[in-house]
Amino acid sequence: MTDRSFNQPLGGNAMPRFGGPATMMRLPAASSPAGLDACFVGVPFDIGTSNRSGARFGPRQIRAESCLLRPYNMATRAAPFDSLQVADIGDVAINTFNLLDSLKIIEAAYDVIAASGACPLTMGGDHTIVLPILRALAKKHGPIGIVHIDAHADINDDMFGERYAHGTPFRRAIEEGLIAPKRMVQIGLRGTGYTAEDFDWPRSHGVRVVAAEECWYKSLAPLMDEVRESFGRGPVYITFDIDGLDPSCAPGTGTPEVGGLTTVQGLEIIRGCRGMDVIGGDLVEVAPPYDASGNTSLLAANLLYEMLCVLPGVNYRA
Ligand code: MN
Ligand code: MN
Repeated sequence: MTDRSFNQPLGGNAMPRFGGPATMMRLPAASSPAGLDACFVGVPFDIGTSNRSGARFGPRQIRAESCLLRPYNMATRAAPFDSLQVADIGDVAINTFNLLDSLKIIEAAYDVIAASGACPLTMGGDHTIVLPILRALAKKHGPIGIVHIDAHADINDDMFGERYAHGTPFRRAIEEGLIAPKRMVQIGLRGTGYTAEDFDWPRSHGVRVVAAEECWYKSLAPLMDEVRESFGRGPVYITFDIDGLDPSCAPGTGTPEVGGLTTVQGLEIIRGCRGMDVIGGDLVEVAPPYDASGNTSLLAANLLYEMLCVLPGVNYRA
């Protein structure tokens, strides 16, 4: 295989990194997922947020900060553009005046992606969007294993009486059979709540809940060894709420909680997914209006790149 067969990110010696169109990683833009092995896609949706909105600006800002990313992973030796055809297929045209209609629009967009065979890597958007994504992917793959990084379990039965919001998607997904709960882990949960049910409801359904306090001062590589072992074979989806990380690492988000995971632990979790049958991933809840330095979006771009680096079929240069 040669590099010429596959799309390559625009290099910094061909165009300054601060120039050119702001696609994810300066990859070519594509109008559809046809012919791609993986695609970056934005969902500029934040009408499911409960506190600070702004995640609608996430995809655009993540793309802008991603201009610094280079193609080769120095740490893991992954060279995803040696063996995967990847492009940025743009944003899903959600209806920002109608949440329920937007869920249908997102599901239909991911039906097309799933049918194409491309593995979607999504820039959110608030966490509501994972529900229609899983609805589409589960039609193809059946119940899906989930690696969920978050400060919150997102298993509320309702919020202000509404069943669809950014704090409810995993309740709905488990109820709808989209998830294999015994192949689901939630990492980084913490903070204040209303009742113990927030974390006990997923446990009662077989989900492994790893509270942030269990992660403090530790490498998470051993945890991920256990997760890979227990998940075995079968489809796995990575859903990364940036508020799983500590606000000192990722201040630009709508529902920050203190005492969170470190950037390094976030990298360890994703790198620990190597070897699993990863069928897609998302990075949600980046709210650029609260991200004065751009560091949150830069981190988000890096985490999405790391997801790309653990997809099946990635070439690792010895
Ligand atoms: Mn969340
Ligand atoms: Mn959260």
